Amino acid sequence: MTDYLSTGSLPEEYRQLALTVRDFAQQVVAPVSAKHDAEHSFPYEVVAGMAEMGLFGLPFPEEFGGMGGDYFALCLALEELGKVDQSVAITLEAGVSLGAMPIYRFGDDKQKNEWLPQLTRGRALAGFGLTEPDAGSDAGGTRTTAIEDGESWVINGAKQFITNSGTDITRLVTVTAVTGTNGGKKEISTILVPTSTPGFVAEPAYNKVGWNASDTHPLSFTDVRVPKENLLGERGRGYANFLRILDEGRIAIAALAVGAAQGCVDESVRYANERQAFGQAIGRNQAIAFKIARMEARAHVARTAYYDAAALMLAGKPFKKAASIAKMVASEAAMDNARDATQIFGGNGFMNEYPVSRHYRDSKILEIGEGTTEVQLMLIARELGL
Ligand SMILES: Cc1cc2nc3c(=O)[nH]c(=O)nc-3n(C[C@H](O)[C@H](O)[C@H](O)COP(=O)(O)OP(=O)(O)OC[C@H]3O[C@@H](n4cnc5c(N)ncnc54)[C@H](O)[C@@H]3O)c2cc1C
Repeated sequence: MTDYLSTGSLPEEYRQLALTVRDFAQQVVAPVSAKHDAEHSFPYEVVAGMAEMGLFGLPFPEEFGGMGGDYFALCLALEELGKVDQSVAITLEAGVSLGAMPIYRFGDDKQKNEWLPQLTRGRALAGFGLTEPDAGSDAGGTRTTAIEDGESWVINGAKQFITNSGTDITRLVTVTAVTGTNGGKKEISTILVPTSTPGFVAEPAYNKVGWNASDTHPLSFTDVRVPKENLLGERGRGYANFLRILDEGRIAIAALAVGAAQGCVDESVRYANERQAFGQAIGRNQAIAFKIARMEARAHVARTAYYDAAALMLAGKPFKKAASIAKMVASEAAMDNARDATQIFGGNGFMNEYPVSRHYRDSKILEIGEGTTEVQLMLIARELGL
């Protein structure tokens, strides 16, 4: 079977990185995936392994403990991990692109020097606190407040569905909060909240449909007092800055989704060649072969879409529309491929120990998180002037 790493289309250093992560995914991640999924346990040993490889520092400069790579390198790693275990991949994606990246993009020197070395080395995780009970797709509906009091911000409110916010190595959550009004409009800013601050509580983890080994909590803030210097970026620019982070994050989520879509293809090809029915391998039936061919086409098109978005971003060109397209087509490819793969596996596909059943449960959130499909359509339409 040919795969995208054997086509010669990638520069050698990217290919080598993808091969290294592929090997790690197969040797270290795959053997423990079903266990962590069944036990809903956070894969600390896998996270430590990813940290050791430098994956949390991939797109950051060496001066902050990073590997000096770029965002595309991160995407390749996410694709290889997403193929095998979406929970592990989202832990890395959220750790890098939602946890560390806001500080790298918008932090001052002190904030960068304090937080980035631990985040880029994977010794600590940071959460991205945007979503609230009454502010999801319409994230501007933020109700959490941060009031100035002397040299402090005092934060009150709640966030929900926050990834990496309650692990033993979570040290920080960056939150959006209303810091006042400006011209009659809410002024939303972002503030760094160390998780050790009194009044910050990560409530018990959710019982999710999938991504069981990924850490997700509701958060509450009761008179949480942090120094004024914890303001991240310019006051009143918090919402806009987080939207920029989400634009980039969509490319990373698309890469993860392509991995999931491709993982379903690879598992299906193997199974269709092995499983016998009516005296032959089920893959000999054109109905099955065509289904898998279509799955491969979906994964390929989605990969092309995220490569395009990443190339535009790295070239400093506008990439908002390309990122939304990539996120939408890749998440749909993952969901469609997971459904088709489960069908190809028959009854086995409905058994939790098979990777395709995990992809079936895990893939749905790809169409919801970091902007639903409807939100991507809104963004694409807006870019078209509609
Ligand atoms: C496992 C998981 C991890 C997450 N991690 C994080 C995280 O780390 N940080 C974070 O801040 N958030 C996180 N989220 C939140 C996620 O980004 C939101 O769930 C998502 O943006 C959707 O918001 P919502 O759930 O409030 O849905 P809603 O906004 O209530 O939307 C409900 C439905 O209405 C549709 N809809 C809404 N408005 C429109 C419209 N104008 N036109 C058409 N359709 C519309 C939506 O597309 C959706 O189908 C996570 C969620 C999950 C489940």
